[in-house]
Amino acid sequence: MRVINIASGSKGNCTIIATNNATIMLDCGLGIRELISRLSEAGINAEDIDAIVITHEHSDHIKGLNSFTRKFKKPVYAHKQVWPYIEKYASDINNSCERYFESLPFYVKDVLITPFAVSHDSKNCQGYTFECKKAKFSYATDLGFVSGENMAHLMGSKLVFIESNHDEKMLIDNPLYPPVLKARIRGNSGHLSNKQCAEAVVSLAGSGTRYFALCHLSEHNNTPELAFGVVANALTNSGFQVEKNVFLRLTYQHKIGNNFYLKED
Ligand SMILES: [Zn+2]
Ligand SMILES: [Zn+2]
Repeated sequence: MRVINIASGSKGNCTIIATNNATIMLDCGLGIRELISRLSEAGINAEDIDAIVITHEHSDHIKGLNSFTRKFKKPVYAHKQVWPYIEKYASDINNSCERYFESLPFYVKDVLITPFAVSHDSKNCQGYTFECKKAKFSYATDLGFVSGENMAHLMGSKLVFIESNHDEKMLIDNPLYPPVLKARIRGNSGHLSNKQCAEAVVSLAGSGTRYFALCHLSEHNNTPELAFGVVANALTNSGFQVEKNVFLRLTYQHKIGNNFYLKED
């Protein structure tokens, strides 16, 4: 299984999960031109995408969905309660492309996709696990906290993409953010701080996850160095050796990320 981030952050999100049989696009939050250009940079032909899976209806996750599905007519999977909101922004999605799910796992070709609800200020925001034989990748961004149930889904993953949105102090000190917005971001339905991310990463590393990518970094309330440093320090303080037995990568708003290859056998 190959996993590559195409964009991550409040200006657009997209990740590709590919096996020998299936190519899945997780979120479609870039304009179509930029999206196609980055996909091609990653060696992915938009025509080859088998399905689009959506986390939630915030524009940084579905901004490109209308034009992409108009052009490529791919099936779009989203939680039943998210669909009415998606349709508001992506009214051109052909009815034949709509795929509902509630809470049960579903397959796209050889990939088993398990949705799980995360706490965010949108209707039924979803995290996902993607499994093909022994390869398991999990994705959790746009969440206010990592619940016990969320952790149970993430456990056993070889690779986890997890939100490391903000540095608490930078957010609190940011003069451009009104108090109500700060409260929203810091709240239980907001976004994960670097510290919250680090706590989850340490627990997951303890359960055997070896590869992590930090996602959805705020451009105003975080820096890549801070996010990486907080998580790397937490791992080191818990006895892990970063770059030896646990591997940490960043994702980016303005460029594609690293390739990850997970063994399926
Ligand atoms: Zn987002
Ligand atoms: Zn969101």
